[in-house]
Amino acid sequence: MSKKKLIIISNDALVREDMDYLLTKPLMKELVAKGSWVETLKTVYPSITYCCHASMITGCYPEKTHLYNNEVDEYGCKDWNWERKSIRVKTLIDAAKDAGCTTANVFWPVLGNDPNIDYNIAEYWSQTPEEPLVDALRRMGSSEQVLKEIVEPNLYYIDGHQRQHPFCDEFIFACARDMIVKYQPDLLVLHPAGIDGKRHQCGIFNDEVTEQLDYTYYWIEKLVRALKEQGLYEDTNIILTSDHGQMDVKRRCNPNALLLEAGIRPEQAYVKPVGGSAQVFIGDRAVYEKVYRLFKDAAEAGIYGFERVYTKEEAQAEERLAGDFELVLESDGYTTFSNSTEGRYMLDFDFNDYRQGHGTHGYLPEKGPQPSMVMIGPDFKKGVRVPRRNTVDMAVTAAHVMGWSLPDADGEIINEVLEG
Ligand SMILES: [Zn+2]
Repeated sequence: MSKKKLIIISNDALVREDMDYLLTKPLMKELVAKGSWVETLKTVYPSITYCCHASMITGCYPEKTHLYNNEVDEYGCKDWNWERKSIRVKTLIDAAKDAGCTTANVFWPVLGNDPNIDYNIAEYWSQTPEEPLVDALRRMGSSEQVLKEIVEPNLYYIDGHQRQHPFCDEFIFACARDMIVKYQPDLLVLHPAGIDGKRHQCGIFNDEVTEQLDYTYYWIEKLVRALKEQGLYEDTNIILTSDHGQMDVKRRCNPNALLLEAGIRPEQAYVKPVGGSAQVFIGDRAVYEKVYRLFKDAAEAGIYGFERVYTKEEAQAEERLAGDFELVLESDGYTTFSNSTEGRYMLDFDFNDYRQGHGTHGYLPEKGPQPSMVMIGPDFKKGVRVPRRNTVDMAVTAAHVMGWSLPDADGEIINEVLEG
């Protein structure tokens, strides 16, 4: 077994443009000079966090992961796909475990109750205002050891501030740092989401987002310092990556209102908004043609905020997206989709809904600013720049350098970055 270690930090919604700012800082200059930089990544469709992270950790497109939205399919249900069992293919974590390695996670999505994670703090939160976070995390697979040694000592960072940044990210990075010090896991994955949160709230480029980049840089510096203090830095491969970009949006479209106006009830057909796209579920085959024609006409009219209606066959053939939906609606780039049924479209936003706000994502992967990735460590070349690859290539390249096996992944090894 290799003594090399791997840490993957997915900074949610960090984009190529952010790197210009981060590269004014000494440690980021050091990391990029010491490693290989894949300047832009093409993510998967839809470019929504849980779908993207399931693809990133497996190297497979959504047609194989079957993870195509944050939320579960059911109409009006706000439960998310929290648990590992929702991903239908092998993950990089399974591959590490197969090789006899120890594994750890802090807030990487869709990894709740993963039997192959030794030290797990799944991305999850209290489901009622009264529920203590420790109880919620225990339900998602955190062991008593992790709760006692990692979560409880850092709980004060997040107490009263769940899902708020910078508090939540500070908790995530502090837990990750403590795991490095206490457990020295062979594979550690973590997912801070403060940059994404600020972009939703404030739009994609502004002082609030820049401040969050400063925090993120500061916390990455603390993690690297912990690796150096533990004598692990030179033997650790570090991947700094991201899941998707964001785009500024001006309004929201309510496709369920269009269905209700046409006399179609949720039992017959309903829409699950993803953000910059929306998925249409049709329970009653008799209304399929009516629903398809309704949305096709609305897209052609050009005023509702979506520009394309994919059939499920088109979505799979063109974007490698498959699921239990029948149609996909794609934003015009200025509009996000919401669950409201109060009117066809609106200019106000509900900032408590992650699909709304001044910035959004969930649209086609080519649109808007693109995610970026830096690969640093003993297995990666120094000073290499690669213009563009796919997010699914990360797990495959990581498995290759670590000697782990992901035989059914769709991604390809990024040979340009490999040392030796
Ligand atoms: Zn995200």
